[in-house]
Amino acid sequence: MQSATFSPLPHAGGILKNYINGEFVDSELYFDNINPVNGQRINQVSEANQELVDSAVAAARTALKGEWQQMSLAQRCALLHKVADGIEARFDEFVAAEMADTGKSLNQAKTIDIPRGAANFRVFADLVKAQASECFHTATPDGLGALNYSVNKPLGVVAVIAPWNLPLLLLTWKLAPALATGNTVVVKPSEETPATATLLAEVMDAAGIPPGVFNLLHGFGENSTGAMLTQHTGIDAVTFTGESKTGSAIMRAAADGVKSLSFELGGKNAALIFADSDFDAAVEGTCRSVFTNGGQVCLCTERVYVERSIYPQFVAAMKAKAEALKIGWPTDHDTDMGPLISHQHRNKVLAFFHSAKADGAEVVCGGGVPSFGDERDQGAFVEPSIFTGLSESSQLQRQEVFGPICHISPFDTEQQAIELANNSEYGLAATVWTQNLSRAHRVAQQMDVGITWVNTWYLRDLRTPFGGVKLSGLGREGGVHSLSFYSEPMNICIKL
Ligand code: NAD
Repeated sequence: MQSATFSPLPHAGGILKNYINGEFVDSELYFDNINPVNGQRINQVSEANQELVDSAVAAARTALKGEWQQMSLAQRCALLHKVADGIEARFDEFVAAEMADTGKSLNQAKTIDIPRGAANFRVFADLVKAQASECFHTATPDGLGALNYSVNKPLGVVAVIAPWNLPLLLLTWKLAPALATGNTVVVKPSEETPATATLLAEVMDAAGIPPGVFNLLHGFGENSTGAMLTQHTGIDAVTFTGESKTGSAIMRAAADGVKSLSFELGGKNAALIFADSDFDAAVEGTCRSVFTNGGQVCLCTERVYVERSIYPQFVAAMKAKAEALKIGWPTDHDTDMGPLISHQHRNKVLAFFHSAKADGAEVVCGGGVPSFGDERDQGAFVEPSIFTGLSESSQLQRQEVFGPICHISPFDTEQQAIELANNSEYGLAATVWTQNLSRAHRVAQQMDVGITWVNTWYLRDLRTPFGGVKLSGLGREGGVHSLSFYSEPMNICIKL
């Protein structure tokens, strides 16, 4: 018999605390951290109040000027590699904690989330050593000239606000380049997923990151820790991943201090399947792009458009694949999909299912809640679902669901496929399946998104630009783009 209480979880039954200026700090104000597999409490989390937010920001400001600033780049990068070593040394604890908080499958936590958490530190520790600066010789009337060169300085104190879907991966994707470029940080993980961030604080501490350089605050967003942090006058920049409407709220809060902003926001991603594609690869890849992490990845496909001549076969093949997915205990090695993050999020996803049915959707598969006959019936599971038959103006086709659902529609021409894909307020990612090389380039370049995959999905190189257009984000992360956001180039002009 499986258990939903994933041991070892170092803080199980205890209290997850804030980490400020090198100390674990309790606010004596707690919220529950719930396991979405069975709805039971894993542990309690200490919510940071205004006083703790103030002391974390003050500690980060002080640390900007201390040992951290005096450290050579090589020493700083060596410390970041030590953090990666620390994550790898406690790999199983991180995996268990991430699974318990999110319900994601063991396979995914082991192969994607936790390895990427460590890799983010290694990649940016190495890339920052090659960060370029500019140099110009400027002509002057006396003929001797001047030398202009730029130096990259840190932005200052950076607030890192992360979502719950890939908790460690997305938090470290921001944190690692922020630290690599010499900033100090105050991070706030999602209230749904406080565990791996707390483990990371222990790793930072053990690695010898100087006090105040990395601070962790737990809490909610609106009217809580998140809002206190983004409004704080001691914060120089906010880097945020989450919902588009939260991005707007943070933008308003950050306006007074004219803080630098980097946003990775929501998506309503399309996949275009042409009749000349490798059919099996397109089915396999599209199924993965819809159902990975229960559809709770910003890059997941929710709108699938298929050339009419292969539409019936494609829908049938997707149905067969979706129905073969194994939903269940995240700890089982062959589980494809665990529960959604919470009951609240499940209610939101089910409301989309209901509205789609009311709008006349045909349910190809799923559309409901699975039954297990054990404690998982108190969890936040939904079935992998495929709908057809809706108009492009329906709620399901317009809004991000962030669950294991796609809608499949037919198209007749390449031009129509492009227009359908681009008919969205979002612009994060698109996927194109075709074996026609000219079409692949032609269509990919016309997608109004930040990233287009051709004949693959979620193949990532951390040096490439990553981000969205329209409601999907602001700025780019990845490689030099992250380094550039977290650095402030200062020009120095020397008269020769
Ligand atoms: P969310 O916006 O509800 O919360 C994200 C974080 O912001 C949490 O830590 C939350 O506490 C905090 N927050 C909420 N309101 C705030 C406020 N007013 N001020 C300051 N902080 C606030 O998002 P979520 O539900 O955790 O994550 C899912 C969303 O994230 C989806 O829309 C998904 O598409 C998006 N996402 C985007 C990317 C990307 O790279 N583009 C990646 C992952 C997730």
